[in-house]
Amino acid sequence: MTLSSSSRPDILIIGGGIAGSGLATVLARAGFGVTLIERSPAFRDRIRGESIHPWGVREMDATGLLDVAISRADARVLPFWTKYQDRAPGDPYRWCDDFPDALGELSVQHPRLQDALLAEALGRGVTVLRPASVLGINWPEGRPEVDISLGDTVTTLRPKLLVGADGDHSLTRKALGGKGVTDAPHHAIGGALLTGFDLPDDSAHQALFDGGFAMVFPQSCGTSRVYYVCSNLEAESLRSSDQPQGLLARLQRVVPDGTASTLESAGPVGFFPNSETLASVAHGPQTVLIGDAAGSNDPSQGHGLSLVFRDIRDLTDRLRDTYDWSMVPQAFASARARDHGVLRAHAQWVAPLVVGHGPEIERRREQVARAREQDPSAGGFAGIFATGPESLVADESARQHFHGEDL
Ligand SMILES: Cc1cc2nc3c(=O)[nH]c(=O)nc-3n(C[C@H](O)[C@H](O)[C@H](O)COP(=O)(O)OP(=O)(O)OC[C@H]3O[C@@H](n4cnc5c(N)ncnc54)[C@H](O)[C@@H]3O)c2cc1C
Repeated sequence: MTLSSSSRPDILIIGGGIAGSGLATVLARAGFGVTLIERSPAFRDRIRGESIHPWGVREMDATGLLDVAISRADARVLPFWTKYQDRAPGDPYRWCDDFPDALGELSVQHPRLQDALLAEALGRGVTVLRPASVLGINWPEGRPEVDISLGDTVTTLRPKLLVGADGDHSLTRKALGGKGVTDAPHHAIGGALLTGFDLPDDSAHQALFDGGFAMVFPQSCGTSRVYYVCSNLEAESLRSSDQPQGLLARLQRVVPDGTASTLESAGPVGFFPNSETLASVAHGPQTVLIGDAAGSNDPSQGHGLSLVFRDIRDLTDRLRDTYDWSMVPQAFASARARDHGVLRAHAQWVAPLVVGHGPEIERRREQVARAREQDPSAGGFAGIFATGPESLVADESARQHFHGEDL
């Protein structure tokens, strides 16, 4: 790859994950000159997001990336959501009955979606530098300047706009003088890729148990992505037991009898804190962060990729709308922080209710159940997975209403 034609791209994106390659594709389609830097030579299963909530699917559709996910990564729409209590299924919930524009969850293997979006970006004329390392980022005279090493070549790129899509440990954020500020973990989330579930493949499955829940998302290729949300204590004991047998045995005890008798592991097993991370700095001169680099959502709530697609849509709209991009980073970052703040507040309200024990939690659950009888929408928050955060305000009165403290 020669760099001479791309040393002054309109937009330089650091990070070719779903945020970076998705944004590159959409911006290239809009006619911008885009260069993208990815450091890894190949994507692998790191146990990341593989189910996208209906509001994120709507954002994907708005940018044209839903078609790419379905046609190139075999993504599957799951129009139903089925809950299990004490291993017994409830009636499958169909998203579009309450939210006519909601297709459902989108289930897709993360590395396949990364590959598909990067291939799409290349096909749209994006200059992809991979594997390449960023040696340094500076802002002489208020313009970004990025030193890159690609094979034997070291070069400097001076884009009109720099986008950091370089994940949770963002180098771009660090170069801006920022850091990730991570909440204390409240609970844990385990993940595995499995075959052998005998459950309907047009539904997401949520098996509730005392102290947490398991999620099963069927995929097109016969695998299912499984998340297991539990207390830190239980995660610690599972971590120290033999895997995948330890997790498989737990799953078999929470889903209906006979639906998980032939489970086999098809990928790594891992356990992670549910912590949310905020970026202390999310923009700079002609520079902006998106995706996890701009802050990551509690993975047990699963809004991370929806936020990514929201970022892609919102940033593209802002860049299209004006020739003067100097105000775009700040305006984008502040709208992003607001939306992420709503998701974070909701995650904090929900956490003790789903992964908590004891009489006080029980009392709160009962109060919330009474509140839902009065207002099933919970002031709009009950629909957050379908509507997203944009129209919601997570202030103190919304919190009280959610918990039924205003009854
Ligand atoms: C256990 C777990 C479960 C989750 N489940 C869900 C879920 O069900 N649904 C959901 O929506 N979200 C989920 N998420 C969140 C979701 O996976 C993330 O929000 C999403 O992957 C973020 O994408 P990204 O592109 O911003 O970052 P990343 O996926 O981290 O991509 C960053 C990219 O930048 C590259 N990079 C980094 N530094 C550099 C550098 N210096 N130079 C060049 N390249 C660089 C990396 O190699 C990588 O390819 C989950 C997260 C976890 C941890």
